Amino acid sequence: MTKDLLIIGCGPAGLYAWKMAADLGLTGIIVEGQPSYGGQVSNNYPEKIIKNLPAIPEIKASDAMDNMYAAINQNADIAVKYNTTIKSIDIITPKEDADWQKNWFKVKFSDKSVEEFKRILFADGIGVYSPVRLTDEDYDNVIYTVTDLKEFDKKNVLIFGGGDSAVDWANQIVTNAKSVTVIHRRDEFRAKPANLQLAAEQGVKLLAPYIFQEITKTSNDCIEKLQVANDDQVLTLEADIILVQYGQQMNKTKYKNLDLAMNEQSRILVDQTFESNITGIYAAGDCCAHPTKTRNILSSIFEAMNAIINIEKVVHHRKVLNNGW
Ligand SMILES: Cc1cc2nc3c(=O)[nH]c(=O)nc-3n(C[C@H](O)[C@H](O)[C@H](O)COP(=O)(O)OP(=O)(O)OC[C@H]3O[C@@H](n4cnc5c(N)ncnc54)[C@H](O)[C@@H]3O)c2cc1C
Repeated sequence: MTKDLLIIGCGPAGLYAWKMAADLGLTGIIVEGQPSYGGQVSNNYPEKIIKNLPAIPEIKASDAMDNMYAAINQNADIAVKYNTTIKSIDIITPKEDADWQKNWFKVKFSDKSVEEFKRILFADGIGVYSPVRLTDEDYDNVIYTVTDLKEFDKKNVLIFGGGDSAVDWANQIVTNAKSVTVIHRRDEFRAKPANLQLAAEQGVKLLAPYIFQEITKTSNDCIEKLQVANDDQVLTLEADIILVQYGQQMNKTKYKNLDLAMNEQSRILVDQTFESNITGIYAAGDCCAHPTKTRNILSSIFEAMNAIINIEKVVHHRKVLNNGW
């Protein structure tokens, strides 16, 4: 069943869009790449006292986000997916006799689920913190987060990274794995000496300095062999599973097949209804651009409210806008 709305991002813009959509009876999903809501406010400055919100002289940033969350009707038909991002968005033809809607959308999520939506609201701000990758392409046996230690049992495991997390995982994984090799690009590991010593004692192979050079064999969307190199030699390593621990970076998802009009700072250009150049795709918050844009919480909320009341008008085929309160 096609849902009314997908909201991408659960910062201030996404949170307010969620509240408005719930209040106006829209169905849908809000997806958030992080484990919880709040966006930059919760991740960058949770302890800061915010002083520019109307009717609230001062409030701790994390409390402001908790209050925004508490205002959302959780009985409404809008599900939240945390720790999830978007893999692809395809424009499809509406399946109802609903010419005025023009486009619907088929969306693949990173949890491998696929859903259809009538409308999409980008509220993805400046992007999501995500792991630094080994390769641009996805491979089924290259992972960035450990969710189940059993997946390493009796496997040849390669771990890329030289910090505590790489070496700590090596020390845990090695007890049941067939082999564990840690590859680090610098001469010296950054991990604690005691952990490095434990790794050596447990039979973890520590390779440094070596950098990932190229994949030499793949099959069934898995890397089977790859090369690492330094100034003196090239090594070919076999892998059943590869854990990458290069740290985190801000990552803004690009949607290659969507020809979204953006400004020079990669912000989505929107009109006064907060719709982009693609009918059915809207944007609110730090991810959008328009002539009176300011990058703050209030502006994000204003844009989210406007986007949702315009979306509701289309989806429910109204002649006039709901006032939004
Ligand atoms: C240090 C600092 C202090 C600030 N102080 C103030 C202040 O005092 N007052 C004020 O009004 N403003 C302040 N701001 C600005 C304010 O925080 C931002 O304008 C606001 O957070 C923008 O909200 P947003 O929802 O548009 O984006 P964000 O807060 O960036 O939230 C976007 C959310 O989308 C998620 N996301 C991104 N991509 C995806 C994806 N592909 N799939 C799923 N989820 C995704 C992210 O994980 C994130 O949670 C401050 C900003 C900073 C950095």
